[in-house]
Amino acid sequence: MSRHLDVDVAVVGGGLVGSSAALALRNMGFGVALLDKGFCGAQASGVNYGGVRRQGRPLEQLPLSQRAHAIWPRLKGLIGIDGEFLRSGHLKLARSEDDMVSLEAYAATVADQGLDLELIGHNGLRERFPWVDGSILGASLCAGDGHANPRLVSAAFASAARRAGAHVLENTAVTGIARNGESFALEAGEGVSLKARFIINSAGAWADRFAADFGEPVPLTRIYPSMIVTEPVAPVMTVNIGMEGGGIYARQVERGNCVVGGERALPLDDPDFSRPRGDGVLAIMNRTAEVFPALRHAQAIRFWSGTEAAMPDRNPVIGFSDTTPGLIHAFGFTGAGFQIAPGVGEVLAELVRDGRTSTPIEAFSISRFSRPTSPADLDRTRYGSGAGPHPEPQPRGAST
Ligand SMILES: Cc1cc2nc3c(=O)[nH]c(=O)nc-3n(C[C@H](O)[C@H](O)[C@H](O)COP(=O)(O)OP(=O)(O)OC[C@H]3O[C@@H](n4cnc5c(N)ncnc54)[C@H](O)[C@@H]3O)c2cc1C
Repeated sequence: MSRHLDVDVAVVGGGLVGSSAALALRNMGFGVALLDKGFCGAQASGVNYGGVRRQGRPLEQLPLSQRAHAIWPRLKGLIGIDGEFLRSGHLKLARSEDDMVSLEAYAATVADQGLDLELIGHNGLRERFPWVDGSILGASLCAGDGHANPRLVSAAFASAARRAGAHVLENTAVTGIARNGESFALEAGEGVSLKARFIINSAGAWADRFAADFGEPVPLTRIYPSMIVTEPVAPVMTVNIGMEGGGIYARQVERGNCVVGGERALPLDDPDFSRPRGDGVLAIMNRTAEVFPALRHAQAIRFWSGTEAAMPDRNPVIGFSDTTPGLIHAFGFTGAGFQIAPGVGEVLAELVRDGRTSTPIEAFSISRFSRPTSPADLDRTRYGSGAGPHPEPQPRGAST
């Protein structure tokens, strides 16, 4: 059956980025179609760890992250559910003196960004978080950060966009996009065609194809973070936990299950899919037992992994195409897009409405991959992307 739609904006990819953009655009009165090759929120946005964290982000992401931070407590009004969002705080642990120095340097770097980080020494940690193993030297607490249930949040944004009047087309893969005069012509699924004035390329780990189609190849690679969840146990963790330098991240939900990550899965023959490694799962559980003695006997009941787009400087691509008027990119969130996605959605809607946004996004321009590298670019990559004074190395990279 053929179907034709004429809209202001076609959003390609119904992850949290695309769905939140679709909702924000509908709330501004634009005609919107949101297309996903599967179900909205079924890829990275729906299977991630659920960390809603500003702490540890590179400086250039913080204005966007702060914008999203203001949205999370308003989810119920915005999408109809609170998404189990809990402003628990995010505690980043230091295993060594070097880690502590790194946490201190980060706190100094972001001191004027409104994160209100609190550095905690060994004794303070023992007093306030006695469930963290005594071998941990200290920590940095971001009391305003938290966690949420990605499975609920991401689908709910797409449902809210549908209720607000967006055409949400699931199981409808976009197969071709062409610039046609002042607008775009899209082909999708079985006989679906669209005309749109704007395209938002929010196709996650599949977005590079659409950028390349418009003459903007990007060095996007795929990563496959792997997660486990334990059986419900007595309340232990009062905060969302990260580790300086990576290795483990963990949170406990109200039902008592602990969600823990820190390793990477292996891609299957079809690199759209991956499978957690058995030794990776064991490594996560062993680290969990070391850092949280109360979880030594907790059973892991399920593990999984997801497909995520990664950029070499660990910053996303957000903003107008350099080659094609009306094309806007938003992808490459490199393991950390869940928290900022609702802010990205608002920014994308502003770009459509105003041609610009009040939130600084210059650092995320796609042109950084096409222009010759200058010394200033190199500096920004070193110090702005997490590879500098507050590294979160790959593959340990517990960036969530
Ligand atoms: C296991 C895991 C743990 C993570 N933990 C965290 C965390 O704790 N905190 C955090 O901030 N971030 C985390 N992340 C990262 C975060 O999940 C992602 O950065 C974010 O969800 C990216 O959203 P997205 O909308 O760009 O991509 P996606 O959610 O992948 O959405 C892209 C969508 O595009 C669709 N698509 C692709 N091609 C087409 C096509 N041709 N036509 C139509 N649709 C198409 C896909 O089906 C998909 O639904 C984690 C990621 C993973 C995988």
